Amino acid sequence: MADRLDPILPGSYLGILGGGQLGRMFTHAAQAMGYKVCVLDPDVNSPAGAVAEKHIQADYVDHAALKELASICQAASTEFENVPAQALDELEALGVYVAPTSAGVSVAQNRVAEKKFLATWKDEAGIGPAPHLVIEREADITHVPENLFPGILKTARMGYDGKGQMTVHSRDELTQAWEKFNKVICVLEKRMDLAFEVSALVARGHDDEVVAYPVAENIHKSGILHTTTVPAPSINAIQEKRIIEAAKAIIRRLDYVGVLCVEFFVLKSGDIVANEIAPRPHNSGHYTQNACVTSQFEQQVRAMARVPLGSTELVQSTIMLNILGDEWLVDKKQSEPHWDEILKHPKTKLHLYGKAEPRHGRKMGHINFVGSTPGEVKLACENAIKVLRISR
Ligand code: ADP
Ligand code: MG
Repeated sequence: MADRLDPILPGSYLGILGGGQLGRMFTHAAQAMGYKVCVLDPDVNSPAGAVAEKHIQADYVDHAALKELASICQAASTEFENVPAQALDELEALGVYVAPTSAGVSVAQNRVAEKKFLATWKDEAGIGPAPHLVIEREADITHVPENLFPGILKTARMGYDGKGQMTVHSRDELTQAWEKFNKVICVLEKRMDLAFEVSALVARGHDDEVVAYPVAENIHKSGILHTTTVPAPSINAIQEKRIIEAAKAIIRRLDYVGVLCVEFFVLKSGDIVANEIAPRPHNSGHYTQNACVTSQFEQQVRAMARVPLGSTELVQSTIMLNILGDEWLVDKKQSEPHWDEILKHPKTKLHLYGKAEPRHGRKMGHINFVGSTPGEVKLACENAIKVLRISR
């Protein structure tokens, strides 16, 4: 076992909890640098399991599986925020270098803890969360101040891609929505008047080195990320600086080693609020694969292997377009999209995750369009949207 401060060099095994597309792209990045990867995921058909040197098919809290992973891997990381804290702690106890640790991940696992964290460190970060109230019991509803309506009720746990959320306009609607969520712990958040949405991707090494990628602008459709554009077209330099400083303060305050993404809302008033923290590489950071010197996945590898972080410099303009199962299901029959048509544009980079079954709303891949000007990139993306007949 390497000393905690020694770098973990290529040739070693790195472990990843979760075998989805993020784990798959992590695996590719690790292998490109000469590392070997062991994936822990119960799914036989996991996208990362298909490409890693080793795939342990077991539950995340299976003691024998964690022991096996620990016997192979020098370091471990996670690709999803809902990884049981227990699994990360167990690996650490077995002598594996775990980055990020369960303490860093757990804040993002629960919206109540997340909002509390963002509110507590608002002054230090310079940006805080939207006005909100925790709904835990019936009485909390009576205490909701009028100015939180219209609001968005969000379940504290397991929300993603707009799931576990409901807009409410009144106390009655709030009661109904909370009942629909079976009275689980929720956060009621004031619905803000958004001008646009952005995310800040940052990484921190074990030696407290912190790097930030340029701020990315996101468009969601039906709660799912649709496109990410970098440089962010709507942001001004002062806003970008504030957002990056806030994300850097957050990653430091969490004492977090690895890649982390913070979503922000820029309001019509010009104010900025912090929305949520993703303790891992993020969908809105996929553009880094083709537009930056170091991709977010390579950065995750570097951080957990305790080697120096890579440059986050943006070398070209870019748009990332998410590809959903819907693209296979146009005209009510299933057919492979005409990727050849898309690839006619020579600055188009196709990334598919190797998922067998396309379903509506399922993330199947993404395309990075790169170019020397934002206009060139936008044109290429619009053309692909037409070819794929994306109607969202
Ligand atoms: P998820 O975990 O599903 O990504 P988010 O909290 O990020 O949940 O919400 C999903 C989307 O809903 C956001 O990207 C934003 O478009 C919208 N949204 C969420 N909260 C608010 C809010 N307080 N005001 C206005 N829009 C919001
Ligand atoms: Mg979100």
